[in-house]
Parts: sequence; C-alpha cells; structure tokens
Amino acid sequence: MEAFLKIDKYLDTLIVGAGFAGMYSLHKQMSDGFKVEIYEQADDVGGTWYWNKYPGARCDIESMDYSYSFSEDLQQEWNWKEKYGTQPELLEYAKFVCKKFNLRKHINFNTKITKAIFSKEKQKWIVDTDNNTIIECQNLILATGNLSTPNTPNISGLSNFKGNVYHTGAWPKKMPNFNGRKVGIIGTGSSAVQSIPVISETVGELLVFQRTPNFSLPARHRDLPEEKRNEYKRNYKKYRQLAKNSSFGIAKYQPPTQSAFDVSDEERNIIYEKAWQEGGQAMLFAFTDLLTNEKANETASEFVRNKIRKIVNDKETAEKLCPTNHPIGTKRLCLDSNYFETYNKKNVSLIDISNNPIEQITENGLLTNNIEYSFDDLVFATGFDAMTGAVNAIEILNDKNESLKSKWLDGPKTYLGMMVSDFPNLFMITGPQSPGVKSQMILSIEQHVDFIHDLISHKKGNNYNKVNAKSKNQDQWVTHNNEVANATLYPLAHSWYNGDNIAGKSKGFMPYVGGVANYKNICDEKVQNNYEGFEFS
Ligand SMILES: Cc1cc2nc3c(=O)[nH]c(=O)nc-3n(C[C@H](O)[C@H](O)[C@H](O)COP(=O)(O)OP(=O)(O)OC[C@H]3O[C@@H](n4cnc5c(N)ncnc54)[C@H](O)[C@@H]3O)c2cc1C
Repeated sequence: MEAFLKIDKYLDTLIVGAGFAGMYSLHKQMSDGFKVEIYEQADDVGGTWYWNKYPGARCDIESMDYSYSFSEDLQQEWNWKEKYGTQPELLEYAKFVCKKFNLRKHINFNTKITKAIFSKEKQKWIVDTDNNTIIECQNLILATGNLSTPNTPNISGLSNFKGNVYHTGAWPKKMPNFNGRKVGIIGTGSSAVQSIPVISETVGELLVFQRTPNFSLPARHRDLPEEKRNEYKRNYKKYRQLAKNSSFGIAKYQPPTQSAFDVSDEERNIIYEKAWQEGGQAMLFAFTDLLTNEKANETASEFVRNKIRKIVNDKETAEKLCPTNHPIGTKRLCLDSNYFETYNKKNVSLIDISNNPIEQITENGLLTNNIEYSFDDLVFATGFDAMTGAVNAIEILNDKNESLKSKWLDGPKTYLGMMVSDFPNLFMITGPQSPGVKSQMILSIEQHVDFIHDLISHKKGNNYNKVNAKSKNQDQWVTHNNEVANATLYPLAHSWYNGDNIAGKSKGFMPYVGGVANYKNICDEKVQNNYEGFEFS
C-alpha cells in the first residue's frame, strides 16, 4: 500500500489501546518528549473496565494492590472505596488517571487499528485505521490487552434467536433490565461466577449452561475501612516492593515455605480453613507444591470440593459443580460472592452440557440432548480469544511481507513477551511468554512499559533507527517458557492459558509462570548485558 499512500500523521510512537497499559505508556512517552498518540476503538479509556460492564464485574485482586504505583501523588490522591474495586469504580479510576496526566487530547477514540506494515524504504511503520487515517511512526506499541477479544462460540442458529443476546466482555452501556425475565447464561468461568449471583437477584428464572465446573474461592468482599486504606497509603513503598518480590505480584502473597506434606492432615485442613475464611487466593499460597505436585494439589482441590458439597443443598447439583478435570489453580481461579449459594435459589437451575454440547440456538432458546430450553435473553459468559486475539486481529506485516499471524500459526513466539523477531520497533505490553495474565497485571504492565520505554530511549539516544529481537534468543526464551510451564501442573488443564477455549486455535502454554520477581531479574540482566538478545541498527 505504501507507494501510493498519503500519510495523514507522523508520530514517533503510536500506541494501540487505551487501557491501563496504553495510558501509562502514553504518559511515559509524553514525559520524555516523544510525539506520541493512542488509537482506541472504544469511545473512552479503561480497556477491560470499559468493556466488561456486566452485573457484578469487579477485580479479584484487592484494589490497593490492583492499581498504578508509578505516581506517589496518584496513590495518595485516589481513595478506593471497596476491597475489590467494582467495574464502575475502576472505570472512574481510569478516567481520573487520564485527566490527572492530561492524556485525553493525545487519544484518538472510536478508531480501530486494522493494519501495520513495516516499510522497507522508510524503515518506519505505516499504520492503517478503520477510518482510513494513515499514520507513519517509528515505534508501534501494542497495548491491545490479553482479554479484549470476546469469544462467542460458533453455535448454529444464533441469528434465529428472537430474544436479546449479550456477551459479558462487550456489555451494553445501558444495563439491560432482567426484571422477571427468563435468562439463559452459557459459561461458568470468572465472568459468569461474578455475574450469576447478581443476575439471579432480579430475574424470574436463570438457566446456567455449564460445560466445565470451575474452582472458586470466597472473595469475602467488603467496603474498605478507612484505617486499612490509610495504613496502606502510609506504607505503599513497602507494599509495592513486597509485590515486586513475589511470584504473582501481590504483596500479601509471599512465596510459601513448606510443602503440603510437611504438616499433618489436620494441620493442613486448619490452614486451608483459615485461608477460606480470610477470602481471596490465600489458599493457593499456603504450600510450596500446590502447583507442582498433583497429590499436594489434590488436598486443596478436595478441600474446596467439600466446601461446595456443604454449601449446595441439592447433592446432584453440588457434584456437577465440583471440578474434577483440572487441579485447582491451573485455570484462572475465580473469586466469588455467594456463587455456590446461588444454586440453592428456586429460580436458578444448572444444566450440565459437558456430555451434551449445545446442538443449536433456536428461536426461543437452545437445544441440547434433544431437549429445548427456552428463555427471553441469552448471555454469553464465554471469555476471550485470550493473549493473541487482539494482536492477530491486526494485519501486521514486516518488510519481507510476512505476517505476524502466519509466524504465530503454531502458537506465539516472542522474546520476553515484548518483541517478535523480524518485526523491528514493534513492542507488546504483557504479550505471550511474559507473566502478564499470571500476575497482578498493573504491576506487570508498569514493568513492561518502563522496559520498553527505556529500550526505545536507548535506541534513540544512540541514533539507531531500529531494534529487533534476535531469533536465537527468541527461540531460547520460548523454550525456557515451556520448560518452566512443564515443571508445573498448569499444562494439565484445558484453559485459555493454552488456547484450549477456542476451536482451531494452536495449543501451547502461553504465560510465563516463573514469577514476576524472577522475570524482572531476567529482564534487568538483559539490559545490564548490553541489551542481550536485542540488535540495534
Ligand atoms: C472481567 C475481568 C476481570 C479482571 N480482573 C483482573 C484482576 O482482578 N486483576 C488483574 O491483574 N487483572 C484482571 N483482569 C485483566 C485485565 O485485562 C488487566 O488487569 C488490565 O486491565 C489490562 O489492561 P491493558 O491495557 O493491557 O488491556 P485492556 O484493558 O484490555 O485494553 C486494551 C484496549 O485496546 C483496545 N484495542 C484492542 N485492539 C485494538 C485495535 N486494533 N485498535 C484500537 N483499539 C484496540 C481495546 O478496545 C481496549 O480498550 C481482568 C480482566 C477481565 C476481563
């Protein structure tokens, strides 16, 4: 396209996406005088918290942790109201950040990036949008999100359905009124676990179609007491450092020190019970071997199953809700407020479709196992084309006319989850093979934004045009990523971590699970070794 193009705008850096990653990246680049803009398909900032407006949506890492750390002013100014921020509160926070750092005038909303070509002639990216604005830029940063491409399974007959159809990941701005209506919901992952209890409060009847039961732990959600908030604010420096030193980026979950078999059965159950009562993900951090030893994991898995059996009155329903096909923690662990309790309500039914997949959507509902279930509204809580969906949706071509998508046909390959060999000056924030989705994501976002910003500044400061990841180092990193994953139980689960939720998607474990502290040390070493694995020209 380039020979005939009229360029509408010239930038140093173009950032795709105005979620937490894009906003911080913009702030960083602006502060250093780069000519930089964001392109965002939505009409406002917030990313995840703009799109996921479904009832009950909230973060499941406590907000005092799940927030930016880069500005002490911001940390002190913003007051989280609840232990786990609600979607509206998180969206307000994103808007507050946008205003505080004067970002809005550098963001082009309602514009989708559709194509990017690295011009051989200009040694720049030529980027196309869905409104035909063409931008030339030196650096292209993909802050497109890991969970930003909603997945609607391809079930025949959907267009015949006469009622309303919703997806939790693309929820309408105006909250649907489910009062007294009969609602069907497909999926029992994290969004479903959050929304089902809330939706059940207003509907006439709720039918939950479950393919795979998931482990969920009580969030023990509550308002955030002022003294707790103030204590955290006074000690933010300490808490942020503890988070950085941890495995998953959460201050209070420090690496455990004993095996599940270092204690008696009775002691172990007391520890699990305490974690269950405390709420959150504490249980997963009780012992060193819960994610590496199947027997150790089974002690925690069975503890949770027994809780489900106790909470849910109907024995058959309780058994259907007990996950048995994956070790606890190997799929995204859900946190809930009264999820299992909801199945004791008279107006809520669980329909197990594990052995009888949905055959088709009909005018009035859906058909499975030759039974037609009818409802007024249908909710897809079926997750996302995770980690690669948004990147692959953009046609990205290098100067040899090779597409990134074709390079990733057998699964993504990256260097440190930030760059792809042969795609110079293209950067990803929390890309595949980085800890991103297996961590407190804002911490991982900040680490990547800082790293990428320094890399771009280093390139500029040394008068280079290009930085590229060396293919040898990329191969080594991919191998390392897989070795680390294979030493754990994660690959035993069919999950979006390895592409299993999308028909036809390549399979392979994508996140780096060596922990955020280890990962950061590795990145820092690369810098100290003269940006090992990166080539500048
Ligand atoms: C329901 C839900 C709950 C979550 N809870 C937590 C939690 O408790 N803790 C945690 O750590 N993480 C959580 N996450 C993960 C969450 O995605 C991240 O924490 C974080 O918000 C990601 O920010 P981001 O900027 O990287 O991506 P996003 O917030 O996804 O933003 C990406 C943006 O890029 C835009 N975009 C993508 N492609 C294009 C394109 N081609 N052109 C233009 N714009 C484009 C999208 O519209 C979107 O606005 C949750 C995710 C979901 C879905």
